[in-house]
Amino acid sequence: MNTTTDYDLIIIGGGMVGACLAISLAKQTLRIALIEAGSLHKATPPGYDDRAIALSFGSRRIFDGMGLWPRIASQTTSIQRIHISDQGRFGFTRLDAAQEKVDALGYVVTAQQLGTVLMQQLQQCDNLTLMSPARLIDLKLGNDHATAVIAHDPDNNTESLTSKLIIAADGSHSHVRNLLDIHTHTHDYGQTAIIANITPEKSHRHIAYERFTRNGPLALLPMPDNRCSLVWTRAPEDAQRLLQVSDEDFLAELQSCFGKRLGHFIKVGKRHSYPLQLIQAQEQIRPRLALIGNAAHTLHPIAGQGFNLGLRDVAALAQNIVDAFHEREDIGALSMLEIYAQWRERDHRQVICFTNTLVHTFSNRFPPLVLARNLGLVATDIVPPLKHLLARHSMGTVGKLPRLARGLPL
Ligand SMILES: Cc1cc2nc3c(=O)[nH]c(=O)nc-3n(C[C@H](O)[C@H](O)[C@H](O)COP(=O)(O)OP(=O)(O)OC[C@H]3O[C@@H](n4cnc5c(N)ncnc54)[C@H](O)[C@@H]3O)c2cc1C
Repeated sequence: MNTTTDYDLIIIGGGMVGACLAISLAKQTLRIALIEAGSLHKATPPGYDDRAIALSFGSRRIFDGMGLWPRIASQTTSIQRIHISDQGRFGFTRLDAAQEKVDALGYVVTAQQLGTVLMQQLQQCDNLTLMSPARLIDLKLGNDHATAVIAHDPDNNTESLTSKLIIAADGSHSHVRNLLDIHTHTHDYGQTAIIANITPEKSHRHIAYERFTRNGPLALLPMPDNRCSLVWTRAPEDAQRLLQVSDEDFLAELQSCFGKRLGHFIKVGKRHSYPLQLIQAQEQIRPRLALIGNAAHTLHPIAGQGFNLGLRDVAALAQNIVDAFHEREDIGALSMLEIYAQWRERDHRQVICFTNTLVHTFSNRFPPLVLARNLGLVATDIVPPLKHLLARHSMGTVGKLPRLARGLPL
């Protein structure tokens, strides 16, 4: 391709996924621009709130490949065991890092801590032009290049930039999707997630709990100082009520759903809520365009897979871009992007299906289904190959893995 462009690729959105793509390509001679609507120079950049993120073992390997893991590791709490149970029923299953022969099944880090590491690294990428706060306001995909119109805040000055490839990493309500009329399959779960930090009486012993209750699933993830990060899915009206009740009433209701495995719940931090939807873009690529992260697929947080899935998008796409670039191919050509999309299709389908099955099966009180899922949990607990498969899915280490996901550099 002979057209001269301002950049090789422009990434729209500097949330966790867009930032990771930029960092993973940092050592290449590619010319990259990252456009982020919020200010990446603030103490808490956009998208990097208090929420705890469970990183899978597979994500740890990707961060290893990116050379970032040592800096992230010091901020994480490891998950040694996962305990999955159904309130008031006999079924439960346990996954164990030692049995899976890994250091940990996963690692918990707050989005804010992860964001701080990513922001520091972004500042050191020589091949990267950071535009923030700046918004994408228009986009045209041409035959041999794409043109993005950017408005710089606060004065709203606009600028046109050209590139061979545009990456949409602009989140669940992607403006790229809107501008290009890319449709989504959207399913409103009719549920809201309540997020808060909880301090229990007993030690969490590095166990992550996933408990299915008659009012919706709840997860407790181990954190430093014996805190646990709660993700509690409830009907929207229940969630509204639980956001407003006193700390004592909140803890009492949580205790009645979770039981006494961790003793009494002593303290709850600030409560936040998130409405839950599945949003799946119906096109993942077009000539000169790829969608990644929440812009491509926004999941229910029940299984803690959203960012992990987005990071696997990053690992595969970065490898395709670098290989095409070194072979002097056009990195925005449809043929190159099709290889990426086909590679990711199975993982997307499996994770969305796994998450939906968890949400729907474990919300149902129809007795035969309740029995079946409890038998399923027990079977998973006592049949090693089944258990191993569930563990490998949770760890994000199934299927053909890109170099970064094997802990190797790009
Ligand atoms: C309650 C909850 C718990 C979760 N727990 C887990 C977990 O344990 N493990 C896990 O793997 N995942 C988890 N997730 C999912 C995870 O948080 C998301 O998958 C991840 O944050 C998505 O990152 P992203 O970069 O794709 O999108 P975002 O974080 O939404 O980033 C998009 C960025 O694009 C920017 N942007 C938007 N429009 C424009 C524009 N026009 N121009 C320029 N920039 C723009 C935005 O400012 C934003 O910074 C959880 C989610 C929730 C809600």
